[in-house]
Amino acid sequence: MPGTVVLGCQFGDEGKGKVIDYLAEHADVVVRFHGGANAGHTVLVGAEKYAFHLVPSGILRPATMNVIGNGVVVEPATLLQELENLRMRGHHPDNLRISDRAHVVMPYHKVQDRIEEDLKGKMKAGTTGRGIGPVYEDKVGRFGIRMSDLMDPAVLQDKLETIVPIKQRLLTAYGSHEVLDPKAIFKEYAGYGEKLGKYVTDTSLLLDQEVRAGKRILFEGAHGTLLDVDFGIYPYGVSSNCAAAMASIGSGVGPQAITEVIGVVKAFTSRVGTGPLPTEIHDKTADMLRERGGGEYGTTTQRPRRVGWLDLVMLRLAARVNGLTGIAVTKLDVLDTLKTIKVCTAYTFTDERIEEFPADMRLLSKVKPVYEEFDGWPNLTDEEWSSLARKGFDALPKELKTYLDRISKEMRAPIRIVSVGRARDATIHVPA
Ligand code: GDP
Repeated sequence: MPGTVVLGCQFGDEGKGKVIDYLAEHADVVVRFHGGANAGHTVLVGAEKYAFHLVPSGILRPATMNVIGNGVVVEPATLLQELENLRMRGHHPDNLRISDRAHVVMPYHKVQDRIEEDLKGKMKAGTTGRGIGPVYEDKVGRFGIRMSDLMDPAVLQDKLETIVPIKQRLLTAYGSHEVLDPKAIFKEYAGYGEKLGKYVTDTSLLLDQEVRAGKRILFEGAHGTLLDVDFGIYPYGVSSNCAAAMASIGSGVGPQAITEVIGVVKAFTSRVGTGPLPTEIHDKTADMLRERGGGEYGTTTQRPRRVGWLDLVMLRLAARVNGLTGIAVTKLDVLDTLKTIKVCTAYTFTDERIEEFPADMRLLSKVKPVYEEFDGWPNLTDEEWSSLARKGFDALPKELKTYLDRISKEMRAPIRIVSVGRARDATIHVPA
């Protein structure tokens, strides 16, 4: 494990939270390296369900250090609420550290997000409206507010005096009637600084010490590779890089510290938001996948997900840009009522066969999926799946193993984890 990245290979909601929680048992540190409160992970511990947006998924394990890296954008009110919820449920999140370089979501970012989405028309990404995109815009524009700024009232005030008038001009030019109050913003955010100060530190330095001490670090991806701002369904994805290399940049750890990259693949495709989805289905099977899929309503927005068959074209892209060393396949139990399962192996457009994921989203919206059919596997209860999982990989139905084998061959990486249910014990670790 020394440095293991776990990330989604599709559009998020692949079940990363469960896989990370499972691997976190052997980790000394869990690091979030990108995204903001627009991401969500669900961890089920016994009958207890925890939904996290900003805190890393290792937070429930007191001996594990949990780091919000510099690549994450922090919404302080949401983070404080998440910490308070944990305290109310008997957890003490003293094992949290926040990068002093992480950028902060300010009130104007949310207003900007909503207006820009409206103005974009057909290019609308279907964002969660939480201002994440505009924070990344400001980071690159070099007029963002970072966690370190919240720690020093004089610096915060000084920066806001410059930034707020710029933002006011922008919002007014966009046609907004929003009036920004720099004094109120200062008061609110200096208050957040006081409350969060004890967690804020130079996490790159801290992680370097952990790496040198031989500690096991788990880098936790939010979102999924197909939402990556460079390689995903641009412009319908998110504003951060989601691919494995971001784990290095977004946490301030050199790439050689990463020795494993585990890609989480859900047994079918789903996503919230707009943009082309070649294997999307709208029939009874779609309703079944959504209902049985659990969590097929976005953790952050509760929007129903669009669902479809597994898309190997997308997965080959994910395998390539992430340099996967292993794969975790989840939600295989969800497909167990199906007699046959379709898998998209390529696309066609007019007479042309398309094997690789295109950059051109207009093309992607016109392609037809080429399907191969696989035999379904026995329909089991949750308990039966958990019992099979306890017996190990060999006990799995042969049809399911054939499905996994095909995914592994296409992605040129071994299957390392198989998840056949929501429970912690419905997880199989496949030895290397
Ligand atoms: P993330 O966005 O990738 O982190 O996805 P989550 O961790 O939030 O998982 C989405 C939902 O899938 C949650 O409700 C999980 O409990 C559920 N889930 C994870 N793995 C499995 C699985 O193997 N089978 C079933 N049925 N549900 C799962």
